[in-house]
Amino acid sequence: MATSVEQKQKIRDVVLTHAHLDHIAGLPLFIDDLFANLNEPVCVHATSEVVTVLERDIFNWSVYPRFSELAGRHGAVMKYQIFEAENSFTIKNLSFKAIEVNHKVPTVGLIISDEKTTIAMTGDTAEMDKFWDAANLEKRLDAILIECAFPDELNDLAHISHHLTPKSLHAEIAKCVHLDCPIFIINIKPMYRERVIKQIESLKIPNLAILEVGAVYEW
Ligand SMILES: [Zn+2]
Repeated sequence: MATSVEQKQKIRDVVLTHAHLDHIAGLPLFIDDLFANLNEPVCVHATSEVVTVLERDIFNWSVYPRFSELAGRHGAVMKYQIFEAENSFTIKNLSFKAIEVNHKVPTVGLIISDEKTTIAMTGDTAEMDKFWDAANLEKRLDAILIECAFPDELNDLAHISHHLTPKSLHAEIAKCVHLDCPIFIINIKPMYRERVIKQIESLKIPNLAILEVGAVYEW
């Protein structure tokens, strides 16, 4: 969760794609930081599998307090809202479609829309079809965010950990019918960032860019 202090003060809904540590590591301290000043609970939206992991392995009193059972001055500080893969849910003016993708643990990609804009985000994944089937059903997409964790030479590691490389990313993008839609690469493993970017650039896909962590994007 690459958020500024100002953003933290405003965020009250968090959507999780899966329970891997690099996707939830910011959550315990995010709630801890806000604890004293919350006048409404932070709502964590996740599948039941993810909530089970959070309660069992993170918010278990040993690793961190079970915030779902704690109250601050103004009441509850954290609550869960469970969604199921292949279903839709809404948060304020945003609608979300959750689609199961191909990762080592239960993981969803998300298609997120308001009245005028729709973006699709894969979450962590290897090769997948269901996500593209859902994305291709949309009339138009304003952006696609897709992972590319490892460089091509670590294809074996990408395969066993269910991630993409620039080569497999290229094959995934070919499944998308929204040909001119801007595509942003997310979730590059920091250790391999430069190598992955170089290999992605050599694919020469004109509508593709690397998403900058911490930058604000508006679609
Ligand atoms: Zn993961």
